[in-house]
Amino acid sequence: MRVYAFDIGASSVKHAIVETNEAPHISSGFPSLRLPALTFQAVRESVFSALAKNFATPAADIAAVAISTKGSVDPTGRVLRAGLFRDYAGVDWAALISDRFPHVPKVLTVNDGRASTWAEYRRHGEHVASFAHFVVGTGVGGGIVLAHRLMPGAHGAAGGLGHIKVQPDSTVRCSCTRTGCVETLASAPAVVRRFHQLRLGAGADVGDGPGRHAGSGRAAAGEGTLGDEIIRGGEITLDDVVRAARDGDEPALRAFRDAGRWLGAAISDVMNVLDPDAITIGGGLLQAASVAAAGGAHESYLAAAERAARDLAVARIADRTVIAPAAYGNDGGLIGAALLASTGP
Ligand SMILES: [Zn+2]
Repeated sequence: MRVYAFDIGASSVKHAIVETNEAPHISSGFPSLRLPALTFQAVRESVFSALAKNFATPAADIAAVAISTKGSVDPTGRVLRAGLFRDYAGVDWAALISDRFPHVPKVLTVNDGRASTWAEYRRHGEHVASFAHFVVGTGVGGGIVLAHRLMPGAHGAAGGLGHIKVQPDSTVRCSCTRTGCVETLASAPAVVRRFHQLRLGAGADVGDGPGRHAGSGRAAAGEGTLGDEIIRGGEITLDDVVRAARDGDEPALRAFRDAGRWLGAAISDVMNVLDPDAITIGGGLLQAASVAAAGGAHESYLAAAERAARDLAVARIADRTVIAPAAYGNDGGLIGAALLASTGP
């Protein structure tokens, strides 16, 4: 079955035609649409213009439109809110699209973390019944599959893995408005903040990783290194930290490791609670982290996460859960949403 899939992210809308046979894949990918503004109007214009261009008639032989989106989505497919975008609340994509494109046979909308969870779960096959997927990027999201079912939750909010509390002393405010969430310690902004902290030699604090003690975090200052240059340059981005890590800058490498360890703490909680067959980790930060760790001489974000997870989980399950990087990389949202549109969870 061919499904026209969208993935609405923080700065762009990805779209592609996905073939949902036994080996789901993108059969036609289109260039991502950059959003001129973080508003629902900008998102809607992107989606509509893509549909008008690539799915103009029923002859396009497409069985459904699938939308993977940031924000919380209720079980009927209505987007309740997506804080990042202005006016993106109470949105019913199915109604909007069938109004404008009456020939579109079916529209399914799902949260992006849940969509990629379903893609990764399906990739593992029938022998996996219990499963969790973490998406690490600007925030931390994900989803849970139990007894082969993607869990929606009573209020459409199951799978909020980013809000697992790992550090009660943290004062950094999460996107959920609370503190102590793994999202504040294991996401891309957390890596940048940690790098900054270590580079300025501020010493260890709550960002140090689970099970460590304050006082061990003073960074070797170094002279004339890329890390110094980056710090002097003003505002730091994740790309800067990746470059510094590739250059062997210890604070940069450590910023990734520390963030990975915090992610591992959250993974261990999921292991202890669900005893899943497998847990996968994907998202933009994971890709950046693998570039940062290129060369393999240092423990990577992913390796640090896995080690912390196995160290912290109860002994009975510590070594038995499969922990693996996501198979679909950044395409999980597109493929998972298409799979859900073609078969349902
Ligand atoms: Zn939170």
